[in-house]
Amino acid sequence: MSRLTPFAAVFALLLMGVSSVATASPMAKPAPSSGFQGFLGRLWPLAHARGVTHETFAAALSGVTPDQDVVDLTKKQSEFVKPIWEYLASATSANRLDRGAKMAGVNASTLDAIENRYGVDRSVILGVWGMETNFGGFTGGKDVIRSLATLASVGYRGTYFRDELIGALLILQQHHVARADFKGSWAGAMGQTQFMPSSFQKFAVDFDGDGKKDIWTDVPDALASTANYLKLNGWQAGLPWGFEVSIPHGFDYHMTRLVFDDWTRQGVRRADGQAMPRSGEANLFFPAGADGPAFLVTDNFDVIKRYNNSDAYALGVAMLGDRIYGAGPVRAAWPVDDPILGLQQRVQLQEQLVALGYDVGEPNGRIGSRTREAIRDFQDKHGLRPDGYAGRRVLEALRVR
Ligand code: CA
Repeated sequence: MSRLTPFAAVFALLLMGVSSVATASPMAKPAPSSGFQGFLGRLWPLAHARGVTHETFAAALSGVTPDQDVVDLTKKQSEFVKPIWEYLASATSANRLDRGAKMAGVNASTLDAIENRYGVDRSVILGVWGMETNFGGFTGGKDVIRSLATLASVGYRGTYFRDELIGALLILQQHHVARADFKGSWAGAMGQTQFMPSSFQKFAVDFDGDGKKDIWTDVPDALASTANYLKLNGWQAGLPWGFEVSIPHGFDYHMTRLVFDDWTRQGVRRADGQAMPRSGEANLFFPAGADGPAFLVTDNFDVIKRYNNSDAYALGVAMLGDRIYGAGPVRAAWPVDDPILGLQQRVQLQEQLVALGYDVGEPNGRIGSRTREAIRDFQDKHGLRPDGYAGRRVLEALRVR
């Protein structure tokens, strides 16, 4: 043992599955293999098989202990769902719009270059940046390795965080960031636009050519990485994400996806008075049901959701970006008396639909396309506008069935 380098010595301790405290005391019991050190011992062969060296593994994990705050945060999943109008109001707050406009100005030439190379609208890139970290205002101060190791060691979400941890070790090994600067959110999302390590490995780019993919402090790298993420997830250049529309009286709510020309023929108009795009298809989308604002959204809207699979999030990104570049707020009024349901109520809604013979899968509170189709069908058969919106009104109508 005496000839081992410091790194190797640390590494040997990790592999033995014992802490230095435990070895110091002859009375100490062996550390249970199920503990944190045991986890690291089991992690090593897998990490090594994926290309992590002894040096990286030992240097990254020496002295790392589980972070109880991170474990506690996994248990704070709120059942409360903020109404979308509150969510969007905070997404496009005056402070955020002000900061966004400044950032758009400061980074205008970088955004020119990124838009040219990736074909992704600068408004959407800024929208993501603003939603994720308030344009770099809060990128997260947690140690990424410690957070991911904590989540992986307790098996939170299966093997997901274990694989992210191995990805994080490889990022260190590739010298994109120094160990001390390797910071992120409690769940390991990193840098200006909050990439997980797996996203970093797939999508991060060195836009300024200094040899590092630095999404923490290098704004061109971070924004180009986001553009690359969206492009490789299918962003179509020249196609807008969508826009608010007005719906004519007597509209047939069964139509869900048409080419823009056909939407125009149906009497649907852009709320801002501009012309519809000449080509492309769009879905009609009512984020708060047919009594609230209506949007036409394209496949690029779904690409934004690849960042965070939530309609509210994607709308927040899209509207923040548009408003930074001068668009107005949503024009139609929100139906504040028909908020979206909380988790338990969404499960109840699905159970009611199942009781009526609809196939919505296992009632789990996630409102996907099958649940929306079932709601639509139920609404249609009971004299309600078939907008597929999982709000309070449709739940009340289901309960009296
Ligand atoms: Ca760089």
